[in-house]
Amino acid sequence: MEREEATWALVSEGFDPLNERGAEAVFAVANGHFGVRAALEEGNPASNPMVIVAGIYMPTNLPAGQTLLTLPDPSTLFVSADGVNFSMSTVRTNAHLRRLDMRNAVMRRSWSFTDRHGHSWRWQSLRAASATRPWLYLYQLILTLEDGEEPMRVTVTLPNAMTLIGGRLRAQEGFVTTAQEPADLVKTEVFLQGRRVEMEDTSISADARRGEPLVLDMISEIVPRELPLRPEEQASFETLIEEHQQSWQERWGTADLKIGGDDRLQQAVRFATYHLLSSASVNDGRASIGPRDLSGIAYHGHVFWDTELFILPFLMLNWPDAARSCLLYRYRTLDAARQRAKSFGYEGAMYAWESTDTGDDRTPDFVSLPDGSAVRVLNGEQENHITGAIPYAVVHYWRASGDDDFMLRYGAEILIECARFWRSRVSPSNHFYSIRKVIGPDEYHEGVDNNAYTNALARWTLLQAESYLSQLHDSQPEAAEQLAERLQIKPDEPSAWRRVGELIVRSTFLKDEVVEQFDGFFSHQPVDVASYLRAGVPLDIAVGHESVQRMRAAKQADVLMALRVLPEWWTEAAARKNVAYYEPITAHTSSLSPPIHALVAAWLRDDALCRKYLEQSMSIDLAPPFRGAAGGVRLASLGAMRQAIVFGLAGFKFSSESIGFDPFLPPPIDSLDFSLLWQRRRTDVRIRPGNLLEIRVDGAPCPVRVNMEERTVDPGEWQSFSFDPAVTFWSAIGRKGDSDAS
Ligand code: BGC
Ligand code: BGC
Repeated sequence: MEREEATWALVSEGFDPLNERGAEAVFAVANGHFGVRAALEEGNPASNPMVIVAGIYMPTNLPAGQTLLTLPDPSTLFVSADGVNFSMSTVRTNAHLRRLDMRNAVMRRSWSFTDRHGHSWRWQSLRAASATRPWLYLYQLILTLEDGEEPMRVTVTLPNAMTLIGGRLRAQEGFVTTAQEPADLVKTEVFLQGRRVEMEDTSISADARRGEPLVLDMISEIVPRELPLRPEEQASFETLIEEHQQSWQERWGTADLKIGGDDRLQQAVRFATYHLLSSASVNDGRASIGPRDLSGIAYHGHVFWDTELFILPFLMLNWPDAARSCLLYRYRTLDAARQRAKSFGYEGAMYAWESTDTGDDRTPDFVSLPDGSAVRVLNGEQENHITGAIPYAVVHYWRASGDDDFMLRYGAEILIECARFWRSRVSPSNHFYSIRKVIGPDEYHEGVDNNAYTNALARWTLLQAESYLSQLHDSQPEAAEQLAERLQIKPDEPSAWRRVGELIVRSTFLKDEVVEQFDGFFSHQPVDVASYLRAGVPLDIAVGHESVQRMRAAKQADVLMALRVLPEWWTEAAARKNVAYYEPITAHTSSLSPPIHALVAAWLRDDALCRKYLEQSMSIDLAPPFRGAAGGVRLASLGAMRQAIVFGLAGFKFSSESIGFDPFLPPPIDSLDFSLLWQRRRTDVRIRPGNLLEIRVDGAPCPVRVNMEERTVDPGEWQSFSFDPAVTFWSAIGRKGDSDAS
């Protein structure tokens, strides 16, 4: 019980300035509307305190053009007693600890110290980004004089008070780009010993007596635009915290993923789930989610393919309304994508590689390297595969949720406009079609032709658009006609999408052979990737941007990403050969890569490989000293780690008609328990030692496949299936390859 409890918390003891910025992100609190980094309230040269607001961008003169709105942290406060300021450098710390209670989404800090006059103090603070009133940030400090003469006059100064407290922080002209008008961005109310304090300047004073805690509560409104204002006036701080915790416990009810036999992985997966839930919200498409969520400002809060392929698979099955909001954001930015296609001479919609509020591409033209040199960034122009990721997520959200209304009103338009883009993007070559001059997921290679992953997603988009329309014609002819009229679909368009899609080179993987990542990849220069990995140096930094282009190495899962998203287009033999070929030459310079490798290794029942990449995935944000997380946690990697368990180990698959499982639990993992909201009905799954899968569904009977066994599970009762861990998805569908010998 105690061990299980420990996996719900994340604890960091002591204080190390070098770890501080990463710890601030790892321990951040957020609610999809804003996030607050877990900086030391009293300030420290190592700290980078800030509030990050979702969906609002401001101009920057950096090449990135726009960056998410950041605001001063209202919980920054200086405390002094008898003229002595409390800080890490002015007091003697006896104990210091941060504890993230993930079940309740509350971050606590506890700090015991002795000041210069020999008085001992205990500082306990708590913070939460309200889940029930998403514009509220809740902060509490309990300060206790534990030993020393009394009373001590304590003064608390809130340095951001001039702008934040009781006053109005006016948006300067041109500062907030999306807010409709100059907004009141933050407003804080302060309570001392439960009584509201009218702040006349930035300080409050009180007498501290031994053993009698001083309690300071702060309730801050963070950019409460479009939200009902101040209904919290009635609610006490305790009530606000209570309802926040209650709401998180309910969320965990459908989101938790229990892992038996591996506490470290359990804790890591809860951490992933905590950040995934913290970053999302139901917001009608006003905001989407960036690669570093709301815990840091790396990548400036721009929205990448990370959202659709790495983060949404969790949300669409566990919090479908939040997934819908992210996809509505893509619908809202569809016009910008149409403009972008036009500006490049293409049809349909070409989504931005790095998108902000308007949907215009904000990929910087240059990035600086550690040695001070600058490299031109071609990703904005060439990383076109995002226009495959978005329709892929649209269709999978629809299949997972059964949200026909979304599909008809918004999703279909995205899908069709993306298909139109790909049809105009291909170039004919010898009765086939090529896609030239792209960057695939492996960003080491620019301007390549026929990247297998990009081609596969282009083909998939084209075929889906055609089959969606023909299905709609059969099931709802009137709706199909209206759609055709609204989007001015010419009668011969759908068949042309299919024809072009089917003729794209290197876009299916049924030939049991190693797929060339792009034209000419096989003749690139071999390089000993493992030696760079051992040395801990990123390959591209070590050899330089130019040289890496000519090397037979991949930055991250690329061909294997095509395996992850379209396993039904592969044979098992092809999957095995490609994993064996690409895994050793992948440098994993992106955090997206290890969890995808863990996932495909599980599909191939390679427990050593799976364990290796689960270990790497777990340590990306969590291995102390947290340094890599300074710019924010790697949310997409965390999303993919969850995928490695649910889609990889449980072997979960879904269509709009049924769900399926081909489980495999590499030791020491001996059980999994999770819930899904497939078709918005609750489905509980337990995988147990002895190769047993138990399932219980709500609502309506549910067609379930486990390995080769198909059965309709009636609602209400647990039903069991036995499985054979040696049976892969491909053996279950008769696609083992190499002539299908079993
Ligand atoms: C990333 C690209 C990105 C570029 C500019 C690089 O580090 O790998 O995906 O477009 O930065 O933000
Ligand atoms: C990766 C991209 C990713 C971006 C943001 C880059 O390093 O190569 O695939 O979209 O980071 O996470």
